[in-house]
Amino acid sequence: MKIIIIGAQAAGASAAAKARRTAPDATIRIYEKSDIVSFGACGLPYFIGDNFTDPNEMISRTPEQFQKDGIEIKLLHEVINIDINSKKITVKDLRSGQNFDDNYDKLLIAVGANPINPILSNRQLKNIFTLRDLHDGLAIKKVLTNPDIKNVVVVGAGYIGLEIAESLVSLKKNVRIIQLDERVLIESFDQQITDVIEENIKQYCDLHLQERVQGFEGEHIVTHVITNKGLYPADAVIIATGVKPNSDIYKNIGINMLGNGAIITDSLGQTNIADVYAAGDCVALNHRVSQSMVYIPLATGANKLGKIVGENMAGGHYEYPGTIGTSALKTFDIEAGRTGLTENEVKKAQIPYKIVVVKDKNHSNYVAGQTSVIAKLIYHADTRVILGGQIAGGSGSALRVNTLATAIWSHLSIDELTMMDFLYAPPFSRPWDILNIAGSIAK
Ligand SMILES: Cc1cc2nc3c(=O)[nH]c(=O)nc-3n(C[C@H](O)[C@H](O)[C@H](O)COP(=O)(O)OP(=O)(O)OC[C@H]3O[C@@H](n4cnc5c(N)ncnc54)[C@H](O)[C@@H]3O)c2cc1C
Repeated sequence: MKIIIIGAQAAGASAAAKARRTAPDATIRIYEKSDIVSFGACGLPYFIGDNFTDPNEMISRTPEQFQKDGIEIKLLHEVINIDINSKKITVKDLRSGQNFDDNYDKLLIAVGANPINPILSNRQLKNIFTLRDLHDGLAIKKVLTNPDIKNVVVVGAGYIGLEIAESLVSLKKNVRIIQLDERVLIESFDQQITDVIEENIKQYCDLHLQERVQGFEGEHIVTHVITNKGLYPADAVIIATGVKPNSDIYKNIGINMLGNGAIITDSLGQTNIADVYAAGDCVALNHRVSQSMVYIPLATGANKLGKIVGENMAGGHYEYPGTIGTSALKTFDIEAGRTGLTENEVKKAQIPYKIVVVKDKNHSNYVAGQTSVIAKLIYHADTRVILGGQIAGGSGSALRVNTLATAIWSHLSIDELTMMDFLYAPPFSRPWDILNIAGSIAK
């Protein structure tokens, strides 16, 4: 049995480790076009913000550790073609420039995603970055250590844009966030929640909504950002306008994909091509609530599906149970999390629904650090089964979303939250937790 994996980060590395444990005698070879393996990009905003200084903390396993487990890692090797009839791949050795062929019994495509780079004038100027891999993080961090870099513009107010904005403020930069849409985090949260987040962001940065970045000014290095509404000074720019699956070369071989290029697999992680599997940020996932294939490129899904595919390529039979889109972020003083469907997504799915919105406190008033919390829950209008939930506020807000995720996963109704036995101690909550209250006031 020979397993070939393309891509050595969250999905590819998880798959290799699980395949090794499942089939001790299999040949497992990973081709990775960069010089990095098993890298957790989620730490990058915190690395840039000086929360820690050693970039190796973001690497979970070194190439030597893989080799020790009998997993061959070929760094700086790019897979440039797949021949599904002869089960052969063509690989370019990026050091020597030579191409060679290799064959597989099972193949995993774990090639991740690329940042979306909108077409903007003078994009080639120095100090304009996207943030995806370790090299991006190192380059941004190096530039930011220069005290002359004072004004930084972040283009896009999604998860990465807002996390990096917080880090930039902690480095004492003047930060301006420019967002094309009318709200921050528009794809992930409803307005009741983004209103709270925006109010907090405005205490730390300039937030421009409904404004389109058109390009940049500068000689060799960026000096200004041009938008449809103005011209703003910028010593550095970070473009964080989302990601798209890195799946272009697989279109030609007839792999089924969503419109955005996300590869479609079955619950075992197999594509429509025999013995070709896919996992991670290049794939679509089955959503348990909407029962549709969705693109949610997160480390949570990449690790889980990677592990499942690793087992299945090695002869196992483990089904991916689906996603419910649970995710969270911290932006300045606010923790925010979401799970299931937002109100917009429920509308799109044409599910009859009701909502309940509750404003409360995270814990007892006589313990330092009491803050406001807002929770919005969406439930089925007839069955009252919970379809989605979002929570934002101070300490303890984001992790409450895991409770909601469990409720949604288990098809609980909104009414069951009313008397659910949640913990209470003054530093953590109040005798009636915000989720108990949501259950009791839901009409
Ligand atoms: C700044 C940032 C913060 C994030 N924060 C979070 C978070 O808090 N929570 C969360 O859940 N997720 C977060 N994510 C998302 C998470 O990092 C990704 O979901 C995860 O890294 C996806 O892993 P992957 O293995 O699918 O893809 P990738 O990490 O993109 O790896 C794919 C690999 O494939 C290689 N490759 C591509 N094409 C080829 C080829 N033809 N030949 C050989 N090799 C190839 C690439 O070089 C790359 O190394 C964050 C991402 C970023 C950038």
